[in-house]
Amino acid sequence: MLTSRPRGTEDILPEEVGRWYLLEATARQVSRLYGYREIRTPVFEHTELFNRGVGDTTDIVEKEMYTFTDRGGRSLTLRPEGTAPVVRAFLEHHLEAGGLPVKLFYLGPMFRYGRPQAGRLRQFHQFGVEAFGSRDPALDAEVIALAMDFYNRLALKDLELHLNSVGCPACRPRHREKLQDYLRPHLADLCPTCQGRFERNPLRIFDCKSPVCQEIVAGAPTIAASLCPDCGQHFERVQEYLQELEIDFILDEHLVRGLDYYTNTAFEIMVKGIGAQSSIGGGGRYDGLVAALGGKPVPGIGFGLGLERVLLALESQGRELMPGGGVDVLVVTAGAGVERVAVRLLASLRAAGLKADKDYLGRSLKAQMKYANRYPAKLVVILGEEELARGQVLVRRLDSGDQEEIPLDAAAAYCRQEKERGF
Ligand SMILES: [Zn+2]
Ligand SMILES: [Zn+2]
Repeated sequence: MLTSRPRGTEDILPEEVGRWYLLEATARQVSRLYGYREIRTPVFEHTELFNRGVGDTTDIVEKEMYTFTDRGGRSLTLRPEGTAPVVRAFLEHHLEAGGLPVKLFYLGPMFRYGRPQAGRLRQFHQFGVEAFGSRDPALDAEVIALAMDFYNRLALKDLELHLNSVGCPACRPRHREKLQDYLRPHLADLCPTCQGRFERNPLRIFDCKSPVCQEIVAGAPTIAASLCPDCGQHFERVQEYLQELEIDFILDEHLVRGLDYYTNTAFEIMVKGIGAQSSIGGGGRYDGLVAALGGKPVPGIGFGLGLERVLLALESQGRELMPGGGVDVLVVTAGAGVERVAVRLLASLRAAGLKADKDYLGRSLKAQMKYANRYPAKLVVILGEEELARGQVLVRRLDSGDQEEIPLDAAAAYCRQEKERGF
């Protein structure tokens, strides 16, 4: 028990952390290029926030939340997603006062009590963006472009962007009626869950995994046919902007988001090679969410993606993500009385911006050289008594074995130069 981690969690070991640095750096870089600034919210929030902000008829809220009562008797929940906390912070700090739109991104762990499987953990990590304050379809296209840019910079291939519009509170009731009229004759054939959804939220029947339900909804009337002129125009302009950006998309009439505050644009990015559930991110517009959480009606759009899923997809495509580890220089001591010089040289190497280390186990010269190869180091600086007496050190390249005598006080600058030349 004490030496095993909880089910559905992962340790990110030092050998693997380099891949995470790359993902996180890419996320931050892309976000900044598009004018999104980072926001960090707590990992737990009042449970009520998710009941309202995610929707209490969703699987997340019904079955997957880590909810607990704290010592003060409050019901708190580990965040299962990032949007509701960001909206809460947007309202709490009156971020709109700084001028709209407000464009934010987040990066961090989320928690859902699901059945653990490849790329789906109970503690997983998400990257997401949210933009508040504009209904401009160019902003929808920007958010989609940002997501695609993130994948492209990681050289992820075989992506499919699925796109739909889910309309607005004005046009959705019409579609709902048509959908119910269509489904009514099949009601007895739907799975029990979907029979329950029929009245409450028939759109969610599109999400059902049951082959029978899927077959039934395959012929159902689409939202596209029921969009009001305003929503139809918005959707067309999103598509035009995507074409302008040369981003390919597939119109997917069955892509729905079953909650009332989702409006207009809905999108999902699929990738081949990571099994049946091949979505690696998605998002859309939620013009009703800020008001649903107690604010003024401020429109919003965003996306979220699971980083473990992205890693899995990259691995399945054979993409090698930097191995990490290693140092630029290992300081090696040969002979007695050079330890103090070694400590000082190490400090000056690090001050020069070099990754540097030394032996701390009193290894022999031969064992230190082995250590340097295993680390691996690009260069070793060998401190020998005889050379030091002349104020010199030996700098050796590990790849070629070439070495050179350099004055001790020029060693850090020399190593730095070698690094800048790419060793
Ligand atoms: Zn509409
Ligand atoms: Zn069903």
